[in-house]
Amino acid sequence: MSRRLVALLMVLLAAAAACGGSSSSPTASTSGYRVMATTSVFADLARLALGDSVQIDSIVPAGVDVHTFEPSPSDAAKIAAADLILMNGLGLDEWAVSLIDAAHKGEGDVLRLGEGLDTTDAWTYLASPEAETEDAYDPHVWLDPTGAAHYVQRIADRVVQDRPELTNTIRSASAAGFAALQDLDTEVRALFLEIPEANRKIVTFHDAFGYLARAYNITIVGVAIASPGQDPSAREIAALIDAIRASGVTTVFSEVQFPSKVLVSIAAETGATVLADLYSDALGAAPGDTYLGAMRANATAIAASMQR
Ligand SMILES: [Zn+2]
Repeated sequence: MSRRLVALLMVLLAAAAACGGSSSSPTASTSGYRVMATTSVFADLARLALGDSVQIDSIVPAGVDVHTFEPSPSDAAKIAAADLILMNGLGLDEWAVSLIDAAHKGEGDVLRLGEGLDTTDAWTYLASPEAETEDAYDPHVWLDPTGAAHYVQRIADRVVQDRPELTNTIRSASAAGFAALQDLDTEVRALFLEIPEANRKIVTFHDAFGYLARAYNITIVGVAIASPGQDPSAREIAALIDAIRASGVTTVFSEVQFPSKVLVSIAAETGATVLADLYSDALGAAPGDTYLGAMRANATAIAASMQR
């Protein structure tokens, strides 16, 4: 973000403060504590961690890509009003840093859910497919329920630390959250175990499903775009078409927040079917309006595509 835009955001924030207005708080929780997450996924994981003990909102609107999101001044006002800002880090939602600076918040107000899990939680990262440096990691940790459980733990621990009076409420909410994530994992594992290993292959739009694939022993044959915001080259498209033909995959998956023109032409070329829509970086309409619902919908659609 340009310095001029940051300056503009600061002016607008000052104006908002002068009016005594904050962005939106129609249903402030009784605790008065506000969590603002970058995406709908992290907001819902916060609900699994915290129940309705606090107010939880998110910034990236439905149908918009988090990787290439361009925040507006009203997003800075949302950050300014938050007690805790949830972002993923690992390069997914770095645009939030400009908002945090503009809102005069600091790193102490931010929980970077995806970062440092290899030191705190024995998590092993996958390399980022679009990495320019060797130490860049795939940011889509939450798409493995075990990764999501680490996020839930971090959120619960942090809010308990900030609001000790909410300890019991939060600990019982997050215990139920962990149990639900455990059930999800058991269910998805059983679903994929029924599929012969040779059929456990997928093609998706962007490279979000590496951790899911690792967790359930699925091979990612290819992805349509190497990096959100960039169209694939003719050579990349040709390579993916070859890989699809060689793999025997008959379905390619689009994703909720991405238009799928490229996938449609790739599918036409290979005789594969385009199946809409996996949930990756954003939730959507029911049943994908919660993390648990979205993950179940993904697993059911993916497993069905492998039954051949
Ligand atoms: Zn993504």
